[in-house]
Amino acid sequence: MRNWGGNVTYTASEVVRPESISQLASVIGSAPNVRALGSRHSFTDIADATTIIDTSGLPEFLELSMERDAITVNGSMTYGRLVELLAPFGFAVHNLASLPHISIAGAISTGTHGSGDRNGNLATAVRALQIMTPEGEVLSLQRGDHDFDGAVVSLGALGVVTSVTLDVEPAFSVEQRVYDGPTLTQIGDSFDDVFGAGYSVSVFTSWQGQADQVWVKRRVDEDARPMDFVEAVEKRHPILGVDAEACTEQFGVAGSWADRLPHFKMEFTPSVGEEIQSEFFVDRNDAAAAIAAVDAVGSEIAEALWIGELRTVAGDDLWMSPHVGRDSLAFHFTWGPDQALAEAAAQTVARALADLSPRAHWGKVFDPTQFDFKQYERLGDFMAFVERVDPNRRFENDWHRRVLSR
Ligand SMILES: Cc1cc2nc3c(=O)[nH]c(=O)nc-3n(C[C@H](O)[C@H](O)[C@H](O)COP(=O)(O)OP(=O)(O)OC[C@H]3O[C@@H](n4cnc5c(N)ncnc54)[C@H](O)[C@@H]3O)c2cc1C
Repeated sequence: MRNWGGNVTYTASEVVRPESISQLASVIGSAPNVRALGSRHSFTDIADATTIIDTSGLPEFLELSMERDAITVNGSMTYGRLVELLAPFGFAVHNLASLPHISIAGAISTGTHGSGDRNGNLATAVRALQIMTPEGEVLSLQRGDHDFDGAVVSLGALGVVTSVTLDVEPAFSVEQRVYDGPTLTQIGDSFDDVFGAGYSVSVFTSWQGQADQVWVKRRVDEDARPMDFVEAVEKRHPILGVDAEACTEQFGVAGSWADRLPHFKMEFTPSVGEEIQSEFFVDRNDAAAAIAAVDAVGSEIAEALWIGELRTVAGDDLWMSPHVGRDSLAFHFTWGPDQALAEAAAQTVARALADLSPRAHWGKVFDPTQFDFKQYERLGDFMAFVERVDPNRRFENDWHRRVLSR
């Protein structure tokens, strides 16, 4: 079995698909080395183990809180399904990633994010969760509990997330407009204006000195900010020239939050297909310097690169979140399917950002030797937490050893 991008073949000797919580407990209880698999959208072996638990067969459920401000769902639910189930209630979650196809548990486990100056990553919407631990216990934690901040971005190491409670808010409408971009220097110089132009803003660039496009997703209940850029006259894909049919509506046509915040529609293949991704985060205060540093190596990564994207993510308190303690600028890279080329290009970018304390997206390709994990001040607490719930290291895998236990 391979991941969605096709660049990882899982080494598992078996993939089991429990259809009930009791079947899940019996798999966890009997397999010597095990891990949960979500929708396979990560680009590394982070979800690999001798026994992979395909969580997609676990029972679906949805419960609304008495106060009607939170919903509890199965962790294996995809955001696409969540959106369908929330619609009749008129509720929304605060943000979505570029695609709705990913599982909620998989996304929060890796600190997956959308864009927006005021929007924390998707894990920040988690109010409570239940994890079936390697010892077969059910760990229930809610915001404010000791260890909660270490349990949400869990990197799959604490067990299987069976239930997630998410903050919800009244559904809102969003309009999306796409503009031709200015130079990257101008983006760096007017960073706050560009990224403050909407609820969720993305700048796409091929790192050749120019921002190819600026995508602005504006809540219609918020004031419009004037944009100096020229609006595109044809519908756009993040990669210029690629058919935009798979992309969500543009040209300022207002629609549901769920149909505008992702770049790609649920019923289409997101992004390109066979591809590899890397993503790095810096403090947004270093935006101009970081943009200049990556632009300076644009020609070195050009052969590997399909498209780059800049997004902003609000800081949070989650121990292993790539955005912990700082508002962040995200440098996303979609590489072609050549693994060696992608790895080399990812190393080039990490080198370029080295002086700016970069962090890497846990679900994407990076060389762990290039990163200082001491930046995660609670790493020691996280590792102790993992040790406590998994003393026999049954959920530990090669990725964990390579990245975290160095
Ligand atoms: C086309 C594409 C677009 C993307 N866009 C974005 C984006 O906009 N923003 C962004 O930040 N990322 C993005 N990603 C990356 C993606 O969101 C993350 O890799 C995310 O982890 C994928 O979730 P998943 O369900 O596929 O997890 P998987 O890849 O299946 O697993 C990831 C981790 O989560 C753990 N896990 C999964 N389910 C459970 C569970 N039930 N309990 C405990 N642990 C679990 C696994 O063990 C593993 O450690 C994109 C990926 C693709 C392929």
